[in-house]
Amino acid sequence: MVISGKDLAQSLKAKMAEQVATFPAKYGRVPHLVVILVGEDPGSVSYVTGKARAAEEVGIRNTTIRRSAEIGEGELLEIIAQLNADPDVDGILVQLPLPRHIDEDRVIAAIDKGKDVDGFHPLNVAALWQKQPCTLPCTPKGIIRLLEGAGVEIAGRKAVVIGRSNIVGLPVAKLLLDRNATVTVTHSRTRDLPQVTREAEILVVAIGRPRFVTADMVGEGAVVIDVGVNRDPDTGKLCGDVDFAAVEPKASVITKVPGGVGPMTICCLMENTIEAFLRRQER
Ligand code: NAP
Repeated sequence: MVISGKDLAQSLKAKMAEQVATFPAKYGRVPHLVVILVGEDPGSVSYVTGKARAAEEVGIRNTTIRRSAEIGEGELLEIIAQLNADPDVDGILVQLPLPRHIDEDRVIAAIDKGKDVDGFHPLNVAALWQKQPCTLPCTPKGIIRLLEGAGVEIAGRKAVVIGRSNIVGLPVAKLLLDRNATVTVTHSRTRDLPQVTREAEILVVAIGRPRFVTADMVGEGAVVIDVGVNRDPDTGKLCGDVDFAAVEPKASVITKVPGGVGPMTICCLMENTIEAFLRRQER
């Protein structure tokens, strides 16, 4: 079964749109997401455009603040301070990566924890690892939604995650562990990776290398979630970390790139923005 993140995201966004439509009568306004885009990196510009389009579909107010790559760290921190203090702003997202002269960790930590809709603030990360209420990072949250949407049983199963980044590999491993999977996290120094990945009943791949996972790395009947977003060196088209054509016949469930995890990431950003808005109304 090929699971479509695009279709699932579409139906979840339609439900969110119905919910948001009730907010003006209840709260006098709709949620407001502010995205800060520094520079002109084509990947970042396209992600930000996608986020703005999704916000429009759901009925969330979206503001994109664009600044040149030459902006100083102090100026960026000043913008964040103003947004933190603005009662009409519910969610703040700084599109990464930032130019090298800016300290990303310092910028993320400057965002009000309650407005951190990416779930990257150190207090949100700490809360995740301590099983406290927190804003979940969008991609790992979207992966769990995809698995649940496809009716994949997680508890008790062997899950292998390839990649240990702070934004995908580590948090998705934690979310799988919280759902009682037995989780192995692998990385570039893992010895005999194919032997480890063949054991996986659920394989999550977040590396950033086109078609890295080949059929011999996947066990019969595995559930395969491909997080990678790469340019195919041969065709120039978008492709994942998994060799889809070769792996699909062996997998019981698999996602495609594009149309798999990507749309779910954006969908979960909308969900996080609504949650941030509702928390602020309840205060
Ligand atoms: P990252 O920070 O570059 O981390 C990559 C991870 O892959 C690292 O842990 C690295 O291991 C591991 N790795 C690299 N080469 C490997 C190898 N040969 N064997 C085993 N492990 C290897 O990347 P990321 O931010 O997690 O992103 C991963 C991919 O997902 C990228 O293609 C990115 O574009 C995509 N992505 C997609 C979405 C979405 O919404 N669809 C969201 C975020 C990211 P070491 O730690 O040992 O270096």
